[in-house]
Amino acid sequence: MNKTVALHTLGCKLNFSETSTMGRLLENDGFEKKNFDEVADVYVINTCSVTENADKECRMLVRRIQRKAPEAMVVITGCYAQLKPKEIAAIPGVDLVLGAAEKFNIALHLKEITKGDSARICSCDIEDVNEFTASHSINDRTRVFLKVQDGCDYNCSFCTIPLARGKSRSDSISNVVANVKQIAGQGIKEIVLTGINLGDFGKGYAGGRKNEESFFGLVKELDEVEGIERYRISSIEPNLLSNDIIEFVSNSRKFMPHFHIPLQSGSNKILGEMRRRYKKELYAERIGLIKTVMPHCCIGADVIVGFPGETDEDFMETFNFLHQLDISYLHVFTYSERTNTLAAGMKPVVPVHVRNERNKLLRNLSYRKMQQFTSQHIGETRKVLFEINSKNGMMEGYTDNYIKITIPYKPEWQNKIAEWKI
Ligand code: SF4
Repeated sequence: MNKTVALHTLGCKLNFSETSTMGRLLENDGFEKKNFDEVADVYVINTCSVTENADKECRMLVRRIQRKAPEAMVVITGCYAQLKPKEIAAIPGVDLVLGAAEKFNIALHLKEITKGDSARICSCDIEDVNEFTASHSINDRTRVFLKVQDGCDYNCSFCTIPLARGKSRSDSISNVVANVKQIAGQGIKEIVLTGINLGDFGKGYAGGRKNEESFFGLVKELDEVEGIERYRISSIEPNLLSNDIIEFVSNSRKFMPHFHIPLQSGSNKILGEMRRRYKKELYAERIGLIKTVMPHCCIGADVIVGFPGETDEDFMETFNFLHQLDISYLHVFTYSERTNTLAAGMKPVVPVHVRNERNKLLRNLSYRKMQQFTSQHIGETRKVLFEINSKNGMMEGYTDNYIKITIPYKPEWQNKIAEWKI
């Protein structure tokens, strides 16, 4: 009888695509996939370093596994496993900890361990990680998240991702195109291009060779691939979102009018402390150009509140900046100290209750922005891709410009693009 494996993802879309790839690798090795709440022989948790309580969450999941399947093998991988391998190995019930370079060798490592031995750590110094492993999620959702870039060479003062994922590196355009064709062959209509610093695509080393390609080059090539009807760009730094890319997307039928552009702060003082590579003026310019060439475009922004040294005035500068900016929604993060980052030692620290109040104010603003954006499009007919999943007799889909549509479940509409009056 086949051995069974259940996988669980904490964190971002990139982790989600990597978990899918680990699952496929294990299936190729003879494992049968199970849901995480079922009994399995092996459990894999792909962790995140950005999640506030990565440690707590990981412990809780391991405890749950132990109650359900005390004999099962427990593997922890992902960003948190790379950053804190020893802490994770010390969690009772953990058998194997896989760092950034080892997660795709999971099948091999599983053959070498025995339940009951003390946890094994397979990890190397993040400086030495320079391989790129393409990965994508498929069959799990209507759209596929395709990883085309990994790692980051920036050094934002609050961020642990470069420590967890290493140097910036990417796939080659020809490999991405081949993967996209293969995904299109499976009936998938929408691909979300993902990476840690996606706009940096083409820089760094891919499989040890210098790669001189660019994200704009990738976008142009992908636009020509037959079969895929929609692409989205998961998130792109404002300084890397060039006018060329914006103008190309405005004329493309396949790249959707939807950008997610991290801002983090609307105060140039705080942006400097964060070591971000742009000022608020550049951000506003980008939004201005997008809205000029694509007035219907949906634009999301990430913001961090409560960064050390953020005064009430600095926060209000961010609030007012976002308020007057023509964007559609915000992802608001409350700053929290991360070990081994420059920001963790910065003063003065913003009291937690103030951070939480600021978070609430921006969440309210985000809600109002989303309402306003949606109301601007009521009465229009736009193309909606309806999703495979249904819940309580209802199904969901998204317009080209990312407005969510919920309708009563119609099986014949699953994974179909339809004209829909909003
Ligand atoms: S750009 Fe900055 S925030 Fe984003 S992954 Fe790189 S270091 Fe972290």
